[in-house]
Amino acid sequence: DHVANQIAAGEVVQRPASVVKELLENSIDANATLIKLIVKDGGKALIQVVDNGLGMSETDARLSFERHATSKISSAQDLFNLETKGFRGEALASIAAIAHVDMQTKTENAEIGVHLKIEGSKVKCQEVVAAPKGTSISVKNLFFNIPARRNFLKSNQVELRHITDEFHRVALVHPNIEFHFYNNGSETFNLPKANHRQRISHIFGSKMTNRLVPVSEETEVVKVTGFVCKPEFAKKSRGEQFFFANNRFIKSPYLHHAVVAAFEGLIKSDLYPGYFLYLDVDPSSIDINIHPTKTEVKFDDENTIYAILRSTIKHSLGQFNV
Ligand code: ADP
Ligand code: MG
Repeated sequence: DHVANQIAAGEVVQRPASVVKELLENSIDANATLIKLIVKDGGKALIQVVDNGLGMSETDARLSFERHATSKISSAQDLFNLETKGFRGEALASIAAIAHVDMQTKTENAEIGVHLKIEGSKVKCQEVVAAPKGTSISVKNLFFNIPARRNFLKSNQVELRHITDEFHRVALVHPNIEFHFYNNGSETFNLPKANHRQRISHIFGSKMTNRLVPVSEETEVVKVTGFVCKPEFAKKSRGEQFFFANNRFIKSPYLHHAVVAAFEGLIKSDLYPGYFLYLDVDPSSIDINIHPTKTEVKFDDENTIYAILRSTIKHSLGQFNV
């Protein structure tokens, strides 16, 4: 059964960035208002996430590493009404199957916290510990028991790039949460609680402030908010293109095309417009469960959303006289 665990783990955890994503989302689900991400050597040596969220009782802490131990859904129907990010109860079990994990956690009401050490799904150590409210999870030696996977990892720099991408995606949807990101001992991002526009500038530089054109539209099918970058700042390379649906980062070549279509005539065809677009739809009209890493989605009204996006962005660009 630990082999089954390792195989399943490989589906959820493809690289250090997958661990970062799952840990950050768990902290958000636990209502954290302050989250620290600490990585060393592109996440190969260490990935640690520290939050000030709800924390776990001793029992819940032990349970959290069991497969399908989710506190977030109790029926299949709940899948359609997802408020929280995680819903499969697989992330921690998977991570614990293929790494050395240290968890320290304490709930608000508990006098004392608990510290757990887990290696290859086995609890190696459990002790009480003085701790602040919240949870800290350290993941070391990722893929220590799957050498083929470990050898398949890219350079520290490339893995860090993937981690940074995940960090950006999470930070962009949660400007109300304070984030700190430390890489090899130095703080690379210090993101205070902010609004969406400020958060974009804090991440991508103050130069962004004057580049953003607000987009806002609400229809029966979709609510669109966010920003596109003015056409003169379109770039030769991809990078600052973000779609979020119901507060999750999504990839959508189809909707990307809608944005490009809105810029038609305003930028050269070999340039990419920048955008940060937040779509809100009825949760029952979106299927977010078609891929284990949850970035591919399917909208019921894809064509309508395309048309609305295109015309709304066109209108916004026109209004700003660009
Ligand atoms: P899921 O998020 O899909 O429920 P996970 O494996 O990611 O599954 O987490 C398992 C459970 O552990 C969660 O449902 C939650 O109850 C608990 N948990 C994990 N991380 C945290 C955290 N940072 N703070 C509080 N509880 C947590
Ligand atoms: Mg989770």
